[in-house]
Amino acid sequence: MKIGILALQGAFSEHEQQLQRLGVATAQVRLPQHLADLDGLIIPGGESTTIGKLATDYGLVEPLRDFARQRPTWGTCAGLIFLAQDIGVAAQPILGLMAIHVNRNAFGRQVDSFETPLTIADVAEDVPFPAVFIRAPLITGVEAGVRVLATLPDGGIVAVRQGHWLATAFHPELTDDLRLHRYFCGMVNA
Ligand code: GLN
Repeated sequence: MKIGILALQGAFSEHEQQLQRLGVATAQVRLPQHLADLDGLIIPGGESTTIGKLATDYGLVEPLRDFARQRPTWGTCAGLIFLAQDIGVAAQPILGLMAIHVNRNAFGRQVDSFETPLTIADVAEDVPFPAVFIRAPLITGVEAGVRVLATLPDGGIVAVRQGHWLATAFHPELTDDLRLHRYFCGMVNA
């Protein structure tokens, strides 16, 4: 099993380190040919407009969309935005795959970063996950076929799964908790 990490911008090396801790082979994806022998893909957090622009410049948008249609793909934070079908009016390149509605900068300036213990279905049910949010997007609605895995106390949706797609609004690569990475590896192995 080999999992690629989109390495255009953002927290890609932290994802790589988490996977390496699990003993999983990884590869950085910067060009379409880097997708060739991968079994799954992580799209990291960072700045979704920058990731979209660089993906366009490198001719990656359509190859990434094709790959994600066929293989397990996980977007964290900006990666969640990149996977979503609906991010409001913003005109920026996205893959537009997951049937979720997203508010890109939902938390505003005052609370632009915070950490909170999060219960995540199938992943962190007994011991909460230390979820780090950094200028995070919020999922404001989901369509049929999307399963909500985690919500904040006010009901805001922050983790979802739709078939072989996973999306989290927070940054599991910035903690030493490996449970979400292990869960994604299970999706790739399935
Ligand atoms: N707000 C950022 C964006 O729009 C995402 C922030 C993050 O990935 N930490 O892309």
